[in-house]
Amino acid sequence: MSHPDAIQNIVILGGGTAGWMAASSLAHVLDAKQISITLIESEQIGTVGVGEATIPPILLFNKMLGIDENEFIRETKATFKLGIEFVNWGGLGESYIHPFGDFATDVETLPVHHHWLRAKAAGYSRDLFDFSLMVQACRGNKFVHPVTNNPRSVLAGVHYAYQFDAGHYAAFLRKYAEQRGVKRIEGRVDEVQQHSESGFIESLKLESGEAISGDFFIDCSGFRGLLIEQTLNTGYDDWSGWLPVDRAIAVPCEKSGPAIPYTRSTARDAGWQWRIPLQHRTGNGHVYCSEFVSDDEACETLINSLDGAATADPKQLRFKTGYRRKYFDKNVLALGLAAGFMEPLESTSIHLVQTGLARLLALFPDKQFRQVDVDAYNQRTLFEYERIRDFLVLHYVATKRDDTPFWRHCQNLPVPDTLQQKIDQFRSAGRIFRESNELFTESSWLAVMHGQGVEPQSWNPVANRFDGADITARLEGMADVIARASDAMPDHEAYVQKCVAESHG
Ligand SMILES: Cc1cc2nc3c(=O)[nH]c(=O)nc-3n(C[C@H](O)[C@H](O)[C@H](O)COP(=O)(O)OP(=O)(O)OC[C@H]3O[C@@H](n4cnc5c(N)ncnc54)[C@H](O)[C@@H]3O)c2cc1C
Repeated sequence: MSHPDAIQNIVILGGGTAGWMAASSLAHVLDAKQISITLIESEQIGTVGVGEATIPPILLFNKMLGIDENEFIRETKATFKLGIEFVNWGGLGESYIHPFGDFATDVETLPVHHHWLRAKAAGYSRDLFDFSLMVQACRGNKFVHPVTNNPRSVLAGVHYAYQFDAGHYAAFLRKYAEQRGVKRIEGRVDEVQQHSESGFIESLKLESGEAISGDFFIDCSGFRGLLIEQTLNTGYDDWSGWLPVDRAIAVPCEKSGPAIPYTRSTARDAGWQWRIPLQHRTGNGHVYCSEFVSDDEACETLINSLDGAATADPKQLRFKTGYRRKYFDKNVLALGLAAGFMEPLESTSIHLVQTGLARLLALFPDKQFRQVDVDAYNQRTLFEYERIRDFLVLHYVATKRDDTPFWRHCQNLPVPDTLQQKIDQFRSAGRIFRESNELFTESSWLAVMHGQGVEPQSWNPVANRFDGADITARLEGMADVIARASDAMPDHEAYVQKCVAESHG
């Protein structure tokens, strides 16, 4: 028998990626005999329909659900992703790849880039990105799964994520959740009923008149935040002073050539453009700052640079970068766009749904909704958002670009203290510290700082104790192993097709 305070009815409002991720993971973890899960969504309102590039932790999410990877790849039209190529970010005409995974292995306990910095100062000409297996695989359009039975193999260091069709992913998770007892209700919520004293939400009233009651509500209603904001008025902290883009236009186009194993982000005059290659089409979007370009011009820039015929009408989206002051308030937890949005530059939003769910399970409430747990959820979530914000801001401030009003504006953006400290530390001696499990690793910070031209004045002096010629020979050896390993990898598109062919069902 369950405890009298135990949550018995969870109601999820919203059937976008966030809603169905919440429904599927809760249905997997919780006991369906004791807790009922209902998801309400409105086809009339629809979903945001974007969100197709992910980062490696999504593998853990799918694995936790027990999803068969080949079936998932087939159903969501997914391709593999090894990183993001940034074109025109550091300077016009420049490009680099922010890869997943590490740069080679540490040498004599020091991260390889310290030895590389020292060697470079002595005339060594090889680029740092030659020490990333993922960058080399991207350059050759290659992919292979990581080797799992030999930790010494260079291929044990393959790190990947997916690029998938957002609509197909939500449908895939919906099937999963419904098979595990989640009840889906189609309909539009018109009214929210709250307890007269506590303000806790008691039920959601549909336009049909039906009321859906619950103990715990998960707000996945998208930007509108119907429960967390429009009902509980928790407030939104605007980060557009740091992250200035506020609109996007998205349009899919026909596929042109083989799908590449990475997302491309091309900086434009007043923002940037994404290109996400899937099995059946390419996803594109232009994210921009409306202060510096009109919607019509932004749309024209996007349409003129598609590499295939558009397959749908362009869709415009408006947003304000920032976060909900309370992600968890009373008996409502916000996930996905209802919780905040920091722009899609590093594909972090779906990941934030995933970590929000992990945190929720670690702090799973009962009907008391103890404030100490609610506060812990909010503090930890804010920490995660702030560190991601810093990483995103880095892309805008670490640039030589001053060729348009937007990029000149970016040159004068305020830099959060926590980011300034990271940049200063790297500039001084190439040092990078990852704080309290923040999402982006030392290698990610290194890739973007190096890729966008932040130059360290020196390196960790510990590197000086090693023989320079010996270190250079070892660097050459590592670069050679990486080049040979990436050359030997299968072609990415062929590999995806093989996964689809091997899928069951
Ligand atoms: C331009 C852009 C690009 C992005 N790119 C990426 C990316 O590459 N990678 C990434 O990780 N993330 C990306 N994101 C974020 C990602 O799209 C979202 O995090 C993800 O799709 C989750 O959205 P959601 O489910 O919170 O909201 P939505 O998709 O908007 O879903 C909201 C749901 O709530 C329902 N709803 C709302 N109001 C009501 C009501 N009154 N009654 C009933 N139902 C209601 C709707 O019907 C819908 O089902 C991007 C976002 C934008 C804006």
